[in-house]
Amino acid sequence: MNPNIKKVLISEEEIVKRCRELAKDIDRDYANNPRKVLFVALLKGSVPFLSELIKRVEMDVEIDFMDVSSYDGTESIGDIKINKDLNTSVKGVDIILVEDIVDTGRTLSTVKKMLQNKGANSVKIVTLLDKPSRRIIDIKADYIGFEVENEFVVGFGLDFNQKYRNLPYVGVLKEECYK
Ligand code: 5GP
Repeated sequence: MNPNIKKVLISEEEIVKRCRELAKDIDRDYANNPRKVLFVALLKGSVPFLSELIKRVEMDVEIDFMDVSSYDGTESIGDIKINKDLNTSVKGVDIILVEDIVDTGRTLSTVKKMLQNKGANSVKIVTLLDKPSRRIIDIKADYIGFEVENEFVVGFGLDFNQKYRNLPYVGVLKEECYK
């Protein structure tokens, strides 16, 4: 285990198993869907989750990426800035937004509105982690991997100062690493 990790919250095995279940739910919900289904992953945190999830999805899907950030640095506050927009048109498309964690809900609610304004037929959300105790905007993911307490977590895509994204599990950092 990485020496800066205090405890492992969710193991790789649990994540892989849950991704299989989520993929099954998604396949079921979009069975006989006549439109294009596009997974839109938010960079960079959702990349490991996206790759684990889409391997298990059986229907035809496409993927694209967006990179957004808050104007105020690390804390997610207010408006978001688009660093990289989609390469694909979303008009009439059924979108599944892929996120690493829903915290205040600001990022997802803003991106969801943007995609709806661009003419997406539907926008659903799949997230690896959900931290409902921190919610400010009333938004609910349609598919949730795991609910977590109000703790700062890293791993499986989630970073602290761009580190720890490569950990194969979700864990809690030792306090001395961020204090
Ligand atoms: P929201 O707009 O929902 O507040 O922000 C979600 C984003 O905040 C996530 O995509 C993630 O980058 C960051 N975030 C929120 N909680 C955590 C956490 O516990 N650990 C890490 N590494 N990032 C978090």
